[in-house]
Amino acid sequence: MFDTVTPGTRTKLRSAVDWRMKVLVLFGTRPEAIKLAPVIHELRKKFFQTIVVSSSQHKQLLAPFLASLNIDIDFDLGVMRRNQTLNGVCSKVMAKLDSILASEQPDLILVQGDTTTTLAGALAGFNRQIPVGHVEAGLRSGNLLSPYPEEMNRRLVSQIASLHFAATQKNRRNLLAEDVPSEKVFVTGNPVVDALKHMLKNLKVSPQINELIKATEGRKRILLTTHRRESFGPALASNLMVIGDFVEKRKNVCLFFPVHPNPNVKNIAKKILGKRERIHLLDPLDYSDFLAIMKSAWLILSDSGGVQEEAPSLGKPLLILRENTERPEAIRSGVAKLVGPGPGSLKQFLEENYAVDTWIKSVKEIGNPFGDGKSAVRIVRIIEEKLATKPMIARADQGTLF
Ligand code: UDP
Repeated sequence: MFDTVTPGTRTKLRSAVDWRMKVLVLFGTRPEAIKLAPVIHELRKKFFQTIVVSSSQHKQLLAPFLASLNIDIDFDLGVMRRNQTLNGVCSKVMAKLDSILASEQPDLILVQGDTTTTLAGALAGFNRQIPVGHVEAGLRSGNLLSPYPEEMNRRLVSQIASLHFAATQKNRRNLLAEDVPSEKVFVTGNPVVDALKHMLKNLKVSPQINELIKATEGRKRILLTTHRRESFGPALASNLMVIGDFVEKRKNVCLFFPVHPNPNVKNIAKKILGKRERIHLLDPLDYSDFLAIMKSAWLILSDSGGVQEEAPSLGKPLLILRENTERPEAIRSGVAKLVGPGPGSLKQFLEENYAVDTWIKSVKEIGNPFGDGKSAVRIVRIIEEKLATKPMIARADQGTLF
């Protein structure tokens, strides 16, 4: 577990130490929680008043993670409703967060990535003239509609944020190309690597997953994750058919597919891949179980952003099931390949790499281009510096909140 300052010790510390500035950390989905957990723990270690707010945009996926990441929530906005629209989520997060901002008056709001929660949190901060720090700033796919709505969300947050924590130099260059002032951009790495390293040292694999890994010993295990909005419908169905047929024809191959609970994924996954030999449809896994499966994989197929950032640390070959990626560093590192939109190219990639697995075998654990495990320390050090030295008032003359 992460080393942290528990609520109990917090009260003792409050009397012993003059508490520092107040930072409100907002997340709503699984990857945001994974990536912000190391930052939350570091903030607490450094005695910041840290208010943790979950929008619960992905309630079902998030809940098990909070315990394993050792995060306690101060406010749960509880915005999740079945079949709600992006505008529904955005407006609810803004409205509910606003009253917390009014009562808590944080000195900084920290958001991560590119979800609707991220955008709503940044905008709510701007409207109350509270500075916003953006973790994982500067990712760009170059296509406003892919990933959707994430590419627009991240661009808009870059317009709002006062502190931009970029994972890589490339992310920094993306921000500078959009006229974000260079003194506000910091290359810190992505704290997903901090979380991953920590978890790998403390893996608590469930008996069910241990059993599954044992039972498939000697097989080429494929791990699949897919959940992107832009692939819902025919594209997803075709990809699942290609993968199902590929596994069916090869007795030494099996598939692990932790199925995203979104009905657009769940229903089609059951229909196309349900009850087929050597195909294991799993419930979403907690972080330890997921990493254990990743470690055991022969090949990973995924449209996930986080998985692209984790694969280099584990030295696992990854076929990215998308038409573009905002993380070209994974491709440049040699770990990942972009499959492209059509099911034809996925079939070809699978067959070619099965026939000649030179690339798959060549992928080894490498220096992760997304971080070195010390991102949270860097981010908190920068926050500390900025909050200590800058007046926390709007600088209307300079058009900035710092
Ligand atoms: N993950 C997990 N269990 C699962 C699937 C994914 O713990 O069943 C983790 C994975 O290791 C990564 C993150 O969740 O850190 C990725 O989340 P997701 O794919 O939902 O979002 P994205 O990264 O695409 O925004």
